[in-house]
Amino acid sequence: WARLRRRLSTSNNALARALGDLLSADRIDEEVWEDFETTLITSDLGVGPTTELTEALRKELAIDGVADPARAKDVLRTELLKLVDPTLDRSLNLTPANDGDPAVVLVVGVNGTGKTTTVGKLARVLVAEGKSVVLGAADTFRAAAAEQLATWGERVGVETVRSDEGADPASVAFDAVDKGARDGVDVVIVDTAGRLHTKTGLMDELGKVKRVIEKKAPVSEVLLVLDATTGQNGMTQARIFAEVVDVTGIVLTKLDGSAKGGIVIQVQRELGVPVKLVGLGEGVDDLAPFDPEGFVHGILG
Ligand code: GDP
Repeated sequence: WARLRRRLSTSNNALARALGDLLSADRIDEEVWEDFETTLITSDLGVGPTTELTEALRKELAIDGVADPARAKDVLRTELLKLVDPTLDRSLNLTPANDGDPAVVLVVGVNGTGKTTTVGKLARVLVAEGKSVVLGAADTFRAAAAEQLATWGERVGVETVRSDEGADPASVAFDAVDKGARDGVDVVIVDTAGRLHTKTGLMDELGKVKRVIEKKAPVSEVLLVLDATTGQNGMTQARIFAEVVDVTGIVLTKLDGSAKGGIVIQVQRELGVPVKLVGLGEGVDDLAPFDPEGFVHGILG
């Protein structure tokens, strides 16, 4: 989070910039508020949260047209934190529905968002917590995908169940969960293909993977991986996936490379699902639980 803070609070962070502009205005008039709103929109906050934030600030600040900087920051901090919603439960549900079953985490998202990397990092976190883990390479469309996952498995010291390129993704997912159950492991993490060619194609594929897994054990988490740098494209992807599967948590990757932290607020708001984890780099330890206070602090300093 220290690193993220540095990144978010750089001068190109749109939220921080909006606040800076607001505070440096000699008089806060309509034009200043309009610029403020425009800058918030460019930070991927979304129209609804932008309006709410602006209204709240307008109400609280600038009675005589001049904002008190200390007070402005406090109000913004309170309002941002409200939007991020620190009351949401962001823990991963890793309790198996039936004794003796592994918990199953299904990881979905468009290719390139950082799905496989996230699976690897998550395995690392769980192993460090003393849990046993098996990975399932259900992205069978690209040989390289299974290869990449197996490499992550080796790196963090867990087994990867995979099959030949072109095999049925659902059957690989089933085999992984089956192996997890037979070996008595705690968690099976299943990596899926993220081909978004058609919505029905995706729906059929992910629906089948989930149905087939659940012949063996219920899926306890469906994590949607989104690339924070993709802005509104990412939001479009998120909407499609949320229609197709019951997403239980969001992983926002590449937050280290994004100056647009607003996506956290927008995606949570629209999907009604908490951001649970964030990716802060390409390394094995660069996955962190999402921390609302740390996030707001990162933006506002
Ligand atoms: P997938 O196709 O969705 O499985 O994506 P990959 O896991 O292969 O990741 C795509 C690229 O994004 C790789 O080069 C990763 O190293 C990189 N990546 C993944 N997560 C992060 C992150 O949190 N920060 C940064 N900077 N890069 C990331």
